[in-house]
Amino acid sequence: MMPRVAFAAKNSVLSVRTGVQPGGKTRLVIETSTRPSYDISYPQNQLVISLSNTGTGGFSPKLADGTLIKNISSVQNGDKLNVVADLRKSIAPIDKSSVMVLSPNGDNEYRLVFDFAAGTGASSGAVSNTAENTTANKKYIIVIDAGHGGKDPGCIGKGGTKEKTVVLSVAKKLKRELDSAGFKTYLTRSDDTFLKLAERAEIAEKRHADLFLSLHANANPSRQTRGYSVYTLSEKASDEEAQKLAETENAVDKIGVSGFEKFSKEIRVALSALQQRAVAELSEEYASTCARAMDNASIAKLPGPSIRHAPFAVLRSTVPGALIELGHLSNATEEKLLKSDSHQNKLVRAIVKSVKNYNFDV
Ligand SMILES: [Zn+2]
Repeated sequence: MMPRVAFAAKNSVLSVRTGVQPGGKTRLVIETSTRPSYDISYPQNQLVISLSNTGTGGFSPKLADGTLIKNISSVQNGDKLNVVADLRKSIAPIDKSSVMVLSPNGDNEYRLVFDFAAGTGASSGAVSNTAENTTANKKYIIVIDAGHGGKDPGCIGKGGTKEKTVVLSVAKKLKRELDSAGFKTYLTRSDDTFLKLAERAEIAEKRHADLFLSLHANANPSRQTRGYSVYTLSEKASDEEAQKLAETENAVDKIGVSGFEKFSKEIRVALSALQQRAVAELSEEYASTCARAMDNASIAKLPGPSIRHAPFAVLRSTVPGALIELGHLSNATEEKLLKSDSHQNKLVRAIVKSVKNYNFDV
């Protein structure tokens, strides 16, 4: 979607910054003018990121308190630029899943992002009196939306299981787990009440949420169909099935008093094209993190693309987020699973992991 930069373009480092992640991990962000290509090495108590075909734009690193990085310098080595981070402690090689290249959004250009903790093994045992973990981490705010409620049951399984009941149960469990993982969470509803879609989005706005998760369960005319799916907002649906689903989920508002049209127009005016793109991109990043966590937890996936897009009214806000269809109540096996505590816990663990792996504030 982003215009591709000419292959031979020389890259330059625009800024370098560090920060502390929830759970105390150190984050290193290197912002570059074009998509970076890099190697990592770990000389004694250093982390060296060697960027190909790169020069320095004369950045001055912004170092946060409480990280494992005490100093950052850069050394030009032919057409490579080595960004050298001096570490307070040695670290284990950074796992691939903890390195990300983010495309430009908002005020940012390309960002190469590394998350890491002090090394595994003996060295980490010698905890000295450094600043680690004593920094007051920002608490990220997550609004968890249990779909449907009250007079709107959502879809109903053959065995009588209601979507509104399953998703409320999962939402409450998720809240408990995310709270104990150090996040600040709010539920859009904590009991069997009806809420308009716009009200749900509005709660996310009012709480200044960093992430909005709308939980649902699906139904399909084919009782064989099963599996989870993750959706982000797009005015154009990615496929016919996604479009139909959005229509079904949006139809909920017809039960209540209309008000959504007005709200969505206001929000759309308030959001510049650039902001919309930034929210869309963050949502996309979360959605892929979520799909990965679900797959890693061996939760059955609806065949087809991992992430789909459709015009879900509940996702129309300035808060990045996703709508997660946890599974199919129309499938007998999944109906049983979705009712069970153990499967609900499994879903919750996967979603907690996805939130922990999601990069807030990059
Ligand atoms: Zn639903």
